[in-house]
Amino acid sequence: MAECIFCKIKDKQIPTKLLYEDGDVMVFPDIHPIKSVHLLIVPKKHIDDFAGVEDASLFSKLFIVAQKMVAREGLKDKGFRLVINGGGAQIVPHLHIHLMGPVGKTAGL
Ligand code: 5GP
Ligand code: ZN
Repeated sequence: MAECIFCKIKDKQIPTKLLYEDGDVMVFPDIHPIKSVHLLIVPKKHIDDFAGVEDASLFSKLFIVAQKMVAREGLKDKGFRLVINGGGAQIVPHLHIHLMGPVGKTAGL
């Protein structure tokens, strides 16, 4: 999508350090981190949001990469949170998972 920020990152039109990349998924740091680790796990294919995923195998691909990043960032025993905004709740209308940590136990979200 021409005007999509994350598609522009995929197409190298916005220079961004990718921490992970394969044929389907890319990972880069959030530009406004709210935790010391705050990564975005993003499908390369433009999909507006969670509700628009038609190929369920994409979920495995994204979560397997998320799991790798949890290990790579040393968050396994430090606490982490995965968040997906959708249905118009997100700022960037291209599906992505936030991985944030370290976080402690919380009573609510
Ligand atoms: P959302 O509310 O859509 O789930 O979150 C989108 C996230 O993307 C925000 O946390 C925001 O800081 C991040 N973001 C927006 N534009 C850019 C960008 O150009 N580069 C990077 N690395 N992150 C961005
Ligand atoms: Zn896009």
